[in-house]
Amino acid sequence: MPHQDVRVRFAPSPTGGLHLGGVRTALYNYLFARQHGGKFILRIEDTDQTRFVPGAEEYIIQCLEWCGLTPDEGPHVGGPFGPYRQSERKHLYRQYAEQLIENGWAYYAFDTPEELEAKRRQHPNFQYDTQTRSQMTNSLTLPAQQVKDWLEEGRPHVIRIRMPEHKTLHIHDLIRGEVVFHTDQIDDKVLLKADGMPTYHLAVVVDDYLMQISHVFRGEEWLPSTPVHLLLWENLFGIEYMPKWAHLPLILRPDGHGKLSKRDGDRLGFPVYAMDWTDPFTGETTRGFREMGFLPEAFLNMLALLGWNDGSEQEIFALDELTERFSIDRIHKAGARFDFEKAIWFNHEWIKRLPITHYLETIKAFFHQHHIALPNDTQLIPTLELIKDRCRLLTDFVEQGKFFFVPPETYDWSAIQKKWSPQMKACFEAWEQELANIHPWKAETIEQSLISTATQHALKKNDMLLPLRIMLVGGKFGPPVFQIAEHLGQRETQQRIHHALSHLE
Ligand code: GLU
Repeated sequence: MPHQDVRVRFAPSPTGGLHLGGVRTALYNYLFARQHGGKFILRIEDTDQTRFVPGAEEYIIQCLEWCGLTPDEGPHVGGPFGPYRQSERKHLYRQYAEQLIENGWAYYAFDTPEELEAKRRQHPNFQYDTQTRSQMTNSLTLPAQQVKDWLEEGRPHVIRIRMPEHKTLHIHDLIRGEVVFHTDQIDDKVLLKADGMPTYHLAVVVDDYLMQISHVFRGEEWLPSTPVHLLLWENLFGIEYMPKWAHLPLILRPDGHGKLSKRDGDRLGFPVYAMDWTDPFTGETTRGFREMGFLPEAFLNMLALLGWNDGSEQEIFALDELTERFSIDRIHKAGARFDFEKAIWFNHEWIKRLPITHYLETIKAFFHQHHIALPNDTQLIPTLELIKDRCRLLTDFVEQGKFFFVPPETYDWSAIQKKWSPQMKACFEAWEQELANIHPWKAETIEQSLISTATQHALKKNDMLLPLRIMLVGGKFGPPVFQIAEHLGQRETQQRIHHALSHLE
């Protein structure tokens, strides 16, 4: 009986940083699972030992954790269909490859890497396929006894799929509809390698079967492999067990030309990975969305809309809302252009929407990275509230808020030079003495006090605002200046004015 339950998987290869396209694949899988009361599974596809990168699996798990896409089953949480790391399932695959050989759907190939290399040098477009395999060294061309002997003596070999000749294969894709492939154009993919490890193609089918996967949502780059998977399914397990396929649209470069790569991010100055990734071999670190100051809520919201919408104008969606509204039918076929400005817009919206307490610890960590000591939370939170709407990235809190906790290092005196006068200096000197008399220390009372001192010096409040801001903040930015003064406190305000006056003639 075909299984009924929804079981979907995110199946990354742990080879480095996690591309935002990978996170979107995980997200769509997750949403579908949650929507159908199903299971979201993490499977680590690490059969290619030459591409093993230490730390990459842990990193992927951390990325999912940061995003809140918690797998129900996976190498770190276990589950009834484990192990969830393909390298630990090595012993499972060979029998399926051999079953295919018995049924005529696969064959042993003994060509050495050198022989294959020589072929490719002779014919740069060489493909091991329906046309060329008759000239190669394999169990289709060798006498049966020879094959037997070679296998017995342990001669290195691979197992390849035997693509049927002159056939068309029809694949039903939930997003693309029917996709047709011609078998003569597809090579006889290796299924089992000389080291006994399966390739991706064999492992993915066997594991999707054994793990009872109901739907495969993966990137469009895997569509050309699907006919191979279809044949394996048909011939190993029968199509009634076959999961439904949906190939997600590519995420394109901002100019729409080609798939977005890490290099594009480096070149254009935006992150492509979910979190910072340090290559353990070169020590090189690539920036991630998290470290750049993105909220996971914004990151996911932005990703959800790269290739999907709910048919309305709504753009802001929380994860539970996405779970409710998401549908495969509304995923676009065409590639989705990545727009970093739009990503920042989402982040800004989420910063404004969520209470500071929701991301307080992250902001504090950014301040600590800059060695800025902070007051306790009861004091800190109202101050951060004041600048919240101006912050598009969480790191902006440091830029925008630093002056509350440390006096400015530099002052933009040029901004006030033109209007500065001895009269104004006298007014500030007088007001500095007044500050001690302001009770309670509130934006309104501070403002009143400044107005009355200014009036006494035949000045207007408005003439005083910019100089005061430069004295307190250092530059022409920040929230309303009397609120700044209120938050700095009477003593600090007084000290900053005093310090500034000693620098101004
Ligand atoms: N291991 C493949 C990857 O790295 C998974 C493709 C699939 O989901 O079938 O993306």
